[in-house]
Amino acid sequence: MSYDPNNIFGKILRGEIPCHKVYEDADAIVFMDVMPQSPGHALVLPKAPSRNLLDADPAVLAKIIPLVQKVAVAAKTAFAADGISIAQFNEPAGGQTVFHLHFHVIPRYEGQPLKTHARNMEEGPVLAANAEKLKAALGA
Ligand code: 5GP
Repeated sequence: MSYDPNNIFGKILRGEIPCHKVYEDADAIVFMDVMPQSPGHALVLPKAPSRNLLDADPAVLAKIIPLVQKVAVAAKTAFAADGISIAQFNEPAGGQTVFHLHFHVIPRYEGQPLKTHARNMEEGPVLAANAEKLKAALGA
């Protein structure tokens, strides 16, 4: 399967549809997941086109993982989390639903299970407030 630029994250990257943006540089963008599995659930994307990890350029991966780490550290502070889960799914059988490489950064709390993946849409003002909290913790 090859990369299809008409995926929803491709559209966000081109500014064709909005997102609650936390951070952006020449190589990457971070925004809130609209169907968070836990409050503060964010997505970290390289701008370089690849469907997922399986077809990604290793040089792109080498640049994005330090940003995933930064966002994870900031999210733990911003959302007073006990832990952070990083998730990354590959192809439909692997649980992937949007086909532009992304890493989920999900705040976790002792004894609290995650909400179902990509199920319930969060209110815009909640996403906006969480984006601001994460931005502040990132110093972005
Ligand atoms: P995947 O299943 O591909 O690993 O994850 C895709 C994620 O994108 C899901 O967690 C889903 O909630 C999120 N998502 C789907 N559509 C949109 C959208 O239009 N905007 C944002 N910000 N997130 C989305």
